[in-house]
Amino acid sequence: MTALRVLGIALLLLLGVGVVLLRWVAPDEAPQSLVFVGGEIITMAEPLEVEAIWVKDGLIQLLGSRSEVLEAAGREVHRVDLDGATLMPGFIEPHTHPLATALLGAAIDVSGFRHESRAEMMATLEDAIEGFTPQPWILAFGWDPIMVPQLEPPTLQELDALSPDKPLVILTQMMHEAFANSAALREAGIDRDTPDPPAASFGRDENGDLTGSVLEVNAINYLLRAVPALPPAVTALLLRWQFADYARAGFTTIGVLGVVGRAKDPIGLLQSLAADAHVPVRTVVYGLPQHLDVEAKPEPMYEARFAIRGVKFWMDGSPFTGGAAFAEPYEDTDLTRERMHLAPDRMGPLNHGLEAFTTEFGRFHRAGYQVAIHTQGERAVQRVLDAAASVLAEHPWPDHRHRLEHNALITGEQIRRAKALGFELSFFTDHIYYYGDRLAEIVGDRVDRYMPVGTAFREGHRATIHSDNPATPIGPLRVMRTAILRTPRKGHRAIGSSERLSVDQALRAMTTNAAWQLGIENHRGSLEAGKAADLLILSRNPMETPPEELDSIEVLGTWIDGQPVDTRRASRPNLGLALRALTQLTTPSHQ
Ligand SMILES: [Zn+2]
Repeated sequence: MTALRVLGIALLLLLGVGVVLLRWVAPDEAPQSLVFVGGEIITMAEPLEVEAIWVKDGLIQLLGSRSEVLEAAGREVHRVDLDGATLMPGFIEPHTHPLATALLGAAIDVSGFRHESRAEMMATLEDAIEGFTPQPWILAFGWDPIMVPQLEPPTLQELDALSPDKPLVILTQMMHEAFANSAALREAGIDRDTPDPPAASFGRDENGDLTGSVLEVNAINYLLRAVPALPPAVTALLLRWQFADYARAGFTTIGVLGVVGRAKDPIGLLQSLAADAHVPVRTVVYGLPQHLDVEAKPEPMYEARFAIRGVKFWMDGSPFTGGAAFAEPYEDTDLTRERMHLAPDRMGPLNHGLEAFTTEFGRFHRAGYQVAIHTQGERAVQRVLDAAASVLAEHPWPDHRHRLEHNALITGEQIRRAKALGFELSFFTDHIYYYGDRLAEIVGDRVDRYMPVGTAFREGHRATIHSDNPATPIGPLRVMRTAILRTPRKGHRAIGSSERLSVDQALRAMTTNAAWQLGIENHRGSLEAGKAADLLILSRNPMETPPEELDSIEVLGTWIDGQPVDTRRASRPNLGLALRALTQLTTPSHQ
């Protein structure tokens, strides 16, 4: 039996269960005119709290006291009793990668979220590969030398022993390094003479032989191009399930910061899903340069659940692979030397020369694309701001809102300069939660200014926080709690406590500021008359919950355009897609 047949049977089961479920629990379409009362309502606007909100035809009509809203809405309006729950604007994730997550969901999980040691990870790999025979490529995800102690990278010999004939690829948690066995390298056409792609490399030993290590985005893409694509409807179904996961976590909109993941036409795929009025989240997309037409930027369609907003670049890599372009060398410690295999004076490379990047940045800037750039180290931030300063001097665009992403070690001065140039900042605060206990071994004293989101707020930025899923799990309430408390999962020492956010700031980061960065602030992000009714219902009011308990708050539901979102895997549209997936799986060309 092939793996695709197994997937086919799973889909068939889903379909069967789905049909039964649909008969009993299919949520009704909500009436077009609704008043929410009986709970706490946080608007994230002025006034901050109201008693009631009236929604009609997907738009917010009126907010205010219970009596005034009910009177204005008239007798025929349908009342929704919140029953003590809290209603607020749907969360907005400013930076995530749904296609990568959807496809990696089918990979073997070797992550530090589930494994404590190398032995456990290798056992998981062995078990999975043993029971996994017919899959054309074996993919594993989550190798994590920072979270898992004493984690030596797998050698090519080990990878070949795990899977002698079939291609095997293990992707690290931060997705900036992969390990490939000989079969995978062969299928991808990578040998000792293959030149390194720009800003990336294939690991080689002192004799020039490949080690199986594949470092940074361009090299990983080169390798993964050889993985056979899934039938389109299967990819679409996995993506729909992924969208439902975001909705269950409380998101109503997500920013897709670089559509990474193997699919024929990734942007077209996202767009086709969003054409369905029942898609569980709205997507705002930043494409890779090669996927975009720089001559013709599409106008965003705010009524649709999809918009192409910008372009994504990577100026440096991950702090956890030695790829972040710091201004001072990485710390020289057991972790950096023995586990990360960094030379003692390692600074991390820049991916683009100043002149070349200025040209590329300028092309997209002039075409009206918002430009978002991955920048972790100070030198990466510097290079982007230098390029932007010269482009902006010749082609001013006061409201460009270009974005710097992650910003591990951006300095206070750079934060001020970014503000002056009109840049917005988004921070990957989950580094503190998942890696905080090891950060000092990588950056030393610089840990006190790691992910300086508090400074960004003080300097007047509309800053946001993100989880960069699949780099870390989806969890907006955990992300907010970490930004507020700055305490890691292991150990109790807070990381850079002067960079803490207030609860109000964290909520703004996740709603109004994220809407601003995605360019949808006139339509979403807060509850105000005339805006779309994109709503989130929580079991407790986050403003009155102690921050350490924030992620115990339950998401009771999300609404988009005044309609409840169906977050079940066996939702009605998913069943149609499952049927198509089945058809494609049983078509010989896909076998
Ligand atoms: Zn990312």
